[in-house]
Amino acid sequence: MYTTFCVSRETADRFIKLFVNRRAYGMQAAHPLPNGSVPYYLARNWQTKKPKPLDADVVRMHLNGDITINLYAINPETQRSKWVAIDADFDGAVEALFQLQWELKQDGVEAALEQSRRGGHLWIFADAPLLASECRIYIYNLALRLGVPVKGGGLKDGIEVFPRQDQIEDGEYGNAIRAPLGVHRKTNQRYWFYEAALTPEAQLDYLDSLKKLTEAELRTFIQGMTLPEAYRPVVAPPYIPPSASTLCTEFRILDYVRATRKDSRNWWAQCPSCAQAGHDRTGDNLAIQIRNPRLYKCWAGCTKEEIRAALGQPIRRKVAV
Ligand SMILES: [Zn+2]
Repeated sequence: MYTTFCVSRETADRFIKLFVNRRAYGMQAAHPLPNGSVPYYLARNWQTKKPKPLDADVVRMHLNGDITINLYAINPETQRSKWVAIDADFDGAVEALFQLQWELKQDGVEAALEQSRRGGHLWIFADAPLLASECRIYIYNLALRLGVPVKGGGLKDGIEVFPRQDQIEDGEYGNAIRAPLGVHRKTNQRYWFYEAALTPEAQLDYLDSLKKLTEAELRTFIQGMTLPEAYRPVVAPPYIPPSASTLCTEFRILDYVRATRKDSRNWWAQCPSCAQAGHDRTGDNLAIQIRNPRLYKCWAGCTKEEIRAALGQPIRRKVAV
């Protein structure tokens, strides 16, 4: 079991200053689902169904260990984030994060490493909120330069960078990450930052002491850079209305999935079969060949039959007559 605390309002305010950039948040379920996962739900007012605003009381409960919350990176009004978090949970994850931390240090950027259930999260804090798109250009290029694998772009294992989007629409949330210093409900454990004593106050002292990244510095680092092509978001392929002749006979996967990315050969989308099993959170297990969109493949190994069944479009067997 985990230690419980009784933090002050001031401690909660310090946490908010560092981590909270928009008021919507998610709550982790108190108990695992039958499949073992412990999902997060957007916190809503149960009467109005509107997202509940994150306040110091909620943060205190999170730090004390009563509830567990997650945080959205981007504020849709500004398209900015107060932090960049790099999530790694593959074989060699912690080594990759140490390598990134060292390389960031060469740029004069201080990053804090937090333990996680299967690896770690590396956090960089902003002096004032930074454009999500610029944060992503910096980290993607840094990782590729170091040969650290980045998830997506055809790779199943690799780091994930939060903010996960360049921008989000009003009413969207983007991806959220587990808020630090709380209890993970799957293991009932707290995962701390490595460089400080194991209390919320000492951890916040450490995080406050780190040098914060400024917009001017970030813009110097990314001068002349763009997001690597394989990781650029794409708009969905154009909808082509089915012609009468194909209507009854031909199944087209692109009528059912929304591509999240494109590279020179493939569209990438969430695999419907993986999604049904609660996997493919990054939404890019399914590759659909651009030249011939009838060819598609799930890199997690789902069969065509499973994918079609998940879409409610089972493959019709030809019956011998
Ligand atoms: Zn799949």
